Amino acid sequence: MAPTSTTMDHFTLAGVGIGPSNLSLAALLDGIDEVHAAFFDRRPRFQWHPGLMFPSARMQTSFLKDLVTAVDPTNPHSFLNYLVRHGRFYPFLAREQACVGRREFADYMEWVARRLPTLRFGADVGEVRLGARGFELWGEEGRLCVAEHVCVGTGRTPAVPECTRPFLGPRCFHAQGILERELSVAGRSVVVIGGGQTGAEVLLELLQGRWGDPARVSWASRRLNFEPLDESPFTNHLFTPAYVRLFHGLPPSTRAALLEHQRLAGDGISLATLQALHDVVYELHATGRAQLVELLPGRELQGMRPGFELDLRCRLDGAHERLHADVVVLCTGLDDRLPRCLEGLSERLALADGHLEVGPDFAVAWDGPRHHRLFAVNAGRHSLGIAESQLSLAAWRSATIINEVLGRPHFDTEATSLVRWPVAANGPTTRAPACSRREAGRP
Ligand SMILES: Cc1cc2nc3c(=O)[nH]c(=O)nc-3n(C[C@H](O)[C@H](O)[C@H](O)COP(=O)(O)OP(=O)(O)OC[C@H]3O[C@@H](n4cnc5c(N)ncnc54)[C@H](O)[C@@H]3O)c2cc1C
Repeated sequence: MAPTSTTMDHFTLAGVGIGPSNLSLAALLDGIDEVHAAFFDRRPRFQWHPGLMFPSARMQTSFLKDLVTAVDPTNPHSFLNYLVRHGRFYPFLAREQACVGRREFADYMEWVARRLPTLRFGADVGEVRLGARGFELWGEEGRLCVAEHVCVGTGRTPAVPECTRPFLGPRCFHAQGILERELSVAGRSVVVIGGGQTGAEVLLELLQGRWGDPARVSWASRRLNFEPLDESPFTNHLFTPAYVRLFHGLPPSTRAALLEHQRLAGDGISLATLQALHDVVYELHATGRAQLVELLPGRELQGMRPGFELDLRCRLDGAHERLHADVVVLCTGLDDRLPRCLEGLSERLALADGHLEVGPDFAVAWDGPRHHRLFAVNAGRHSLGIAESQLSLAAWRSATIINEVLGRPHFDTEATSLVRWPVAANGPTTRAPACSRREAGRP
């Protein structure tokens, strides 16, 4: 079939953002000529969370959960092909590890990005509008393109505690871009807020002197202990297509309770990081430097004053504590907020508590023309569960979207489940054609 669009700036599908989510979509679309696609990112080139790319950080997911393998294991954009092309297949096998270093995985994705002709970097999409011929993507210098369908993959936004907002600046900041800052903590008191993987990694780097030798580092977490990532076999079944479909069919209150209950499945600390951190803290104690570090689990940040003075409340005994900090690093996670480029369409979107309602076909619920589909990736945690913000199902998610756009099951997205979940999985997600050539361009 010939491409559905003919003009230079008219596409079947336009992607906003080129992180791993939309990169997977672009990689799986490579070679499917019926879908004329273009993807836009504001960065000058592909980069994966450069502000948190610590040299020793490792992936929390297997290399098999790459951009394509789960639905297309012979695809040339697989991690295995990257290894072979770089002459590392045998050394990689000798390591016998499924989780590679974060830097290596980032390099793999950069390699894929360099091979894809559909990616446009240095293009900040300010607004997605609905025009007469479909969606219009607008940037600073005017219209970037027109597209029949759009897939928004702009990532999640740093979550910042309200009380810290007035103090945000060079000495109080979210960890997201910590490696891109000019930072020196030599001789200073540092407080790290947040007991997830990023909090643990930042603490480790601080104690190892990456930004100079601090006078003291305190690590406060609302969680009642510094808790490990749950990677046990049945927890891994939460990251399967069947579970995503089950989750979507549940009432909102049940979904919210499950997200809380399953927090450690996606947001706990890798065992290797916990062990490394424990070793460093133990060594400090064993060598008479215990006062350098203070571990504060079960502490909730309640207020912040100039100076900085932080008010914490202990969740175990209700006691109030005050901490002094010269530098505050917020490792307080990421939120699914309405992507800024969709704000102009917000009245047409179904929003629940400010979150997009995303279906198991990854289409956003909206009142626009049915033949123009608005997809969102890594934006539907509240609709689809914890797997949404991970790489685990990225390839399956992309395949599901491509099937929707093509209106036929190009990829097999069905998989058997070992677990009979209480609500039956909904079956194939591919429904009526999302867009036929006849319909394309209708207002
Ligand atoms: C440090 C870190 C490590 C992680 N490790 C793992 C892991 O090991 N395993 C796992 O499963 N998950 C992991 N995750 C979770 C998740 O997989 C990643 O956050 C992943 O990057 C999400 O990909 P994304 O494409 O949805 O978003 P992002 O990676 O955030 O990419 C979004 C892209 O959109 C661009 N953009 C945003 N707005 C616009 C706009 N208006 N116009 C143009 N471009 C725009 C940005 O420049 C960016 O390139 C990790 C997360 C972090 C923060």
